[in-house]
Amino acid sequence: MSDMNNDLVLFNELVDVLLNEEKQHPVADRIASDTLYEAIDLSLNAPAMIDQEFKEVLKDVLVSTPKTATNLFFNQLFGGRQSKAVLGDLLAVMLNNSMYTYKVAGPQVGIEQEIIRQSCNLVGYGSQSNGTFPTGGSMSNYMALIMARDAKDPSCRLTGISKPMVLYTSKESHYSNAKNASFAGIGRNNIRYIQADAAGKMIPAKLEAQIVTDLANGCVPTYVNATAGTTVLGAFDPIDAIADITEKYNIWLHVDGAYSGSVIFSAAYRHLLKGVERSQSFSYNAHKMLGTPMTCSIILVNDKKQLHDSFSNEADYLYQTDGDDFNLGKTSFQCGRRNDALKFWTLWKSVGTTGLEQIVDHQFELADVARDYIRNHADYTLYSFDDSISICFNYKNIDPMALCTALYEHQITVVGFGSFKEETFIRLVTINANNKKEDILNFFKVLEEFAEKTPALIPV
Ligand SMILES: *Cc1c(COP(=O)(O)O)cnc(C)c1O
Repeated sequence: MSDMNNDLVLFNELVDVLLNEEKQHPVADRIASDTLYEAIDLSLNAPAMIDQEFKEVLKDVLVSTPKTATNLFFNQLFGGRQSKAVLGDLLAVMLNNSMYTYKVAGPQVGIEQEIIRQSCNLVGYGSQSNGTFPTGGSMSNYMALIMARDAKDPSCRLTGISKPMVLYTSKESHYSNAKNASFAGIGRNNIRYIQADAAGKMIPAKLEAQIVTDLANGCVPTYVNATAGTTVLGAFDPIDAIADITEKYNIWLHVDGAYSGSVIFSAAYRHLLKGVERSQSFSYNAHKMLGTPMTCSIILVNDKKQLHDSFSNEADYLYQTDGDDFNLGKTSFQCGRRNDALKFWTLWKSVGTTGLEQIVDHQFELADVARDYIRNHADYTLYSFDDSISICFNYKNIDPMALCTALYEHQITVVGFGSFKEETFIRLVTINANNKKEDILNFFKVLEEFAEKTPALIPV
């Protein structure tokens, strides 16, 4: 057998170990960070390693790596494992294409374009729409900001920024907005953080008032970022009302749906994005709600010319055959680009658009289960709102940071905390569509049992 065949056998053996381990210990044996290099042999050395030792070391690494696919991981805006998507990603690794040209990617170009075309239809964009797969939601937001900047002042692509541009986003939006303002040459100080209402949604009247003030001061309003699923509460900014303003003042509207933009697949929840077709760009992460492996982020633009104007380049060593519609490097940030489309396509192809809808709807059902439980148990306080898959709560006045850290250090369950306005709380995310109602109820059970056994947590 070739090395490749042998390693695939080894791969299957290791995956069996991992899947079994996930069943036995849904929370990985935690290695304290200050003992990491003693606990496990991560060293790289001059001599080659013999196969048996190599295998043992790989097992050690697998077993002690945090498990994000199990029914006790609620820490992040991703979780679980859609097996058909995993299959696609494994094939992408074997094929090892790069998405820049048809010459090198062949049908993978069509796979990516089909996802983009269908997504644009769901968003309600017109015949000139298109998009690309950036490295993640942060990069999607960055590409949107660059297009907005170039649309406002095309000359800045050659001569740099010459106008005092400002951009707008809610206080609750993702932190990438701040970094992106700096990367784009606009500057972090030129972000206007618009106040959110009691439910975490941007207040359109505050946005308009700020734009009016900026115009009076000679600033150039350039970009509004609306969030579809804020990182802490999972709130949806009111896109229609925001679009009224961006159209009136001729400002680029980007909808950051990294977290919850996948509601485009759901007849029941699509209304949360009402007005999204009026935006200039929209992004969503299939590696969040849709459960593909990391990363799978898609940015769509209503007018593909904008994408081309900001990101195209000429390179005759690269683009040697076929037209621009097939050479996707003409509209991407990177040169060499990983195939993030195939894993999404294998999932979508196998479960159908209705299957994706069920994945999304199931997460909202699980969120309802969690909110009902909290509302029906007096020891809990709920801080978040309906129509979100983030459930924010506190238990028995226990300090949420102390509780989350203790749950993690004792390998009970992995969950994080967040804050909104003056409150800090535990944030449970029901994004793992492999979970069942019982898994959500079990989360509360293990939390309560742990708190019972750990009286030091309860304030006197
Ligand atoms: C996760 C998230 C991002 C960042 O996406 P990455 O893929 O992690 O870079 C941006 N915006 C929102 C609202 C998010 O939830």
